[in-house]
Amino acid sequence: MSGTLGVAVIGTGRMGADHVRRIDRYVSGARVAAVADLDGDRAKELSAGLPGCTAHTDVAAALDAPGVQAVVVASPGPAHEEALYEAFARELPVLCEKPLTPDGAGALRVMEAEQRLGRRLVQVGFMRRHDAEYEQLKSWLDAGAHGRPLFLHCRHRNVSSPSFFTSEMLVNDSVVHEVDAARWLLGQEIAAVTVMAPATAAGAPRGVRDPQLVLLETVGGAIVDVEVFVNCGFGYQVQCEAVCETGSARIGDGWSMVTQGAGRWGGAIDQDYTVRFSNAYDRQLQRWVEATRAGRTEGPSAWDGYAAAAVCEAGVRAQRTGVRTTVELVERPPLYC
Ligand code: NAD
Repeated sequence: MSGTLGVAVIGTGRMGADHVRRIDRYVSGARVAAVADLDGDRAKELSAGLPGCTAHTDVAAALDAPGVQAVVVASPGPAHEEALYEAFARELPVLCEKPLTPDGAGALRVMEAEQRLGRRLVQVGFMRRHDAEYEQLKSWLDAGAHGRPLFLHCRHRNVSSPSFFTSEMLVNDSVVHEVDAARWLLGQEIAAVTVMAPATAAGAPRGVRDPQLVLLETVGGAIVDVEVFVNCGFGYQVQCEAVCETGSARIGDGWSMVTQGAGRWGGAIDQDYTVRFSNAYDRQLQRWVEATRAGRTEGPSAWDGYAAAAVCEAGVRAQRTGVRTTVELVERPPLYC
């Protein structure tokens, strides 16, 4: 593909608007050619400052707009499947925000449709794979100098959750990131999930079980424990410590600047994922644009989206029943091997 890549961005809410801003200001080799949102005014407002960008309320119309060669899907999860089929119908490469689909069955249908095309078009937006600290941890684990990985101890904390957040979403909207990160870091599928919860925190919205502890068992015998606490009140923290047979490595402590004064030392805690993972979002988009212009599809695939959805489905069952729940995956199709 030669020239500047024309991108259609579907969904112009928090993430979509952020992706539009990134493509417009920071990513080289791409421009926003069209935006679509059910809220037409929001799409129009966003497109107004972008030369040659058209605004739509309909996904198909956005993908048919002049100059569109690739798609970023940033609408809510339940709308992803339909947008992906529209992209497939036009053989357009897609960067699809997580989740690929809200459930495993939908992700299976997407994989089947992609296999019918005979080539990969989808990259899922599991942006932690592009974060410098996660990449360092992955290299450390891959080097294997300290034996087999035994544990990943993970913490995923948000200041507060959106008003629509439910107890299930702690698993399938938040922990889904740890599910993908664990599969990628360890190079292993998740075999079983157990979910426990301590007393609900005073800051949790009515009816939401927050925090929770999610235990993931991998097929290779590692255990991943995730404290997920989405109304912790004090900051956005994503931490991960890998413990191997003879060593450990830890990321996410956020020691970027330490201040000292008045007899105290300290630093700031990020308040938001758009700050903590700002560089990861930049790198994800830049790498996607470069790969797409070179005719390649890289990064987390529809298989990764499917596996994460299947683990989260098992996680929600485990949450409801209080019982360790095994994860059932179909055989991995050759397109994703
Ligand atoms: P949002 O609610 O802020 O924005 C969604 C937008 O999509 C809204 O403007 C809405 O009007 C529009 N929309 C709804 N249905 C649509 C449809 N069928 N076609 C076109 N537009 C439609 O949501 P958000 O926080 O921006 O989340 C969007 C996606 O990004 C979700 O899949 C979410 O899980 C994901 N997300 C990813 C991360 C990450 O770190 N990777 C963080 C937050 C959200």
